[in-house]
Amino acid sequence: MKKIALLGATGSIGTNTVEVVTAYPELFQITSLTFHSNEEKGTVLIEQLNPKFVGVGSQKLKAELSKRFPTVEFGVGESGLIKAATLEEVDVVLTAISGSVGLAPTMKAIESGKDIALANKETLVMAGQWVMEAAAKNNVKVLPVDSEHSAIFQCLEGQKVENLRELVITASGGSFRDLTRDELKTVTLEQALQHPNWSMGKKITIDSSTMMNKGLEVIEAHWLFGTDYDKIKVVLHKESIVHSMIVLEDGAYLAQLGPSDMREPIQFALTYPDRLPIKNEKMFDLTQIAQLNFEPMDFDRFPMLALAYVVGKKGGAYPTVYNAANEIAATAFIDGKISYLKIEQFVQKAVDHYQETTEITLAEVIAIDKQTRTIVERWIKEEGRL
Ligand code: NAD
Ligand code: MG
Repeated sequence: MKKIALLGATGSIGTNTVEVVTAYPELFQITSLTFHSNEEKGTVLIEQLNPKFVGVGSQKLKAELSKRFPTVEFGVGESGLIKAATLEEVDVVLTAISGSVGLAPTMKAIESGKDIALANKETLVMAGQWVMEAAAKNNVKVLPVDSEHSAIFQCLEGQKVENLRELVITASGGSFRDLTRDELKTVTLEQALQHPNWSMGKKITIDSSTMMNKGLEVIEAHWLFGTDYDKIKVVLHKESIVHSMIVLEDGAYLAQLGPSDMREPIQFALTYPDRLPIKNEKMFDLTQIAQLNFEPMDFDRFPMLALAYVVGKKGGAYPTVYNAANEIAATAFIDGKISYLKIEQFVQKAVDHYQETTEITLAEVIAIDKQTRTIVERWIKEEGRL
């Protein structure tokens, strides 16, 4: 029986994880879970899963739920996330929260020897060096949940690192892949949320449309697989059937294919190295798909992807700034405070604004994340709609 802490249980990845886990009650148990504010969905999950501990976003929610579920222990905020992730009986922490709020519980879980099934890519972008160092030191596995990284992880199985020529991450292109930059000036939130292939949380759906998500994934791949940025390529693949590929020294391509169903990478992270059938598996018939298309990425069209390589190669807290500025700007767009193209402008401006001269520590990285948020919030107030 694998005991799981599920951080972000009410979200898109959280919901898919609950489906995977409840399909195999003899193998998996959710010992602790967290959610931020969705009381209705959270309540259903507590009834369904009967966890020992639940982390929530506010004291008010904790007070209400404690009355309703007297046998469950509740926690609030960051300490609630950390407690959920470090309960003694937990074997693996599935990080399905959105944003760099995932860093603290992930680090504490690693220090407590818990394996990590990582969906929360912002954590690795913000502090990949420190997360991976802590994982190595504590002999903890960091298993990818992101579909591209799960695909690469599967392709790399049994390969020698020295035989790897490059990683090829596929990108669906997001909701605006067929629009010109000029046409982006007037797009709305509603249009941005129409992802052609995947149903996901709001923030990642916006990130997919700006190609910020692919930028975050390039940096995520660098840390997960220890691959140089020059060896990480991205191709546009509108069908989202090939989830990603590797290329070996002799020119052989290995790819992982499948339907757009996040239950697959989630389940593989939980059953690795074993495999199990997926309940109500999505139909997948290659003869129906018939055609797979691949196109080069246009870095002028998607400047946030180009910027990922710049900040990634600079290292230090440059990726932290890139991620923090985007979290604030993407949220401001979702909240109707800024227009679409302002997201990229604020991310670019934050990166240009940041200067790093000496080697930094994790504590400094956390401080820079906070400072960047404050600065971008101020810019949004001052010039958001301009
Ligand atoms: P979502 O918005 O649907 O869900 C987010 C979850 O995090 C919710 O349960 C919410 O309660 C919780 N949360 C939000 N803010 C919080 C806070 N401040 N404190 C504590 N909890 C908070 O997001 P999602 O689409 O499920 O994505 C989750 C993560 O997985 C992201 O990092 C995303 O990039 C990654 N990811 C998602 C997908 C996908 O298909 N949705 C695919 C690959 C990777
Ligand atoms: Mg992905």
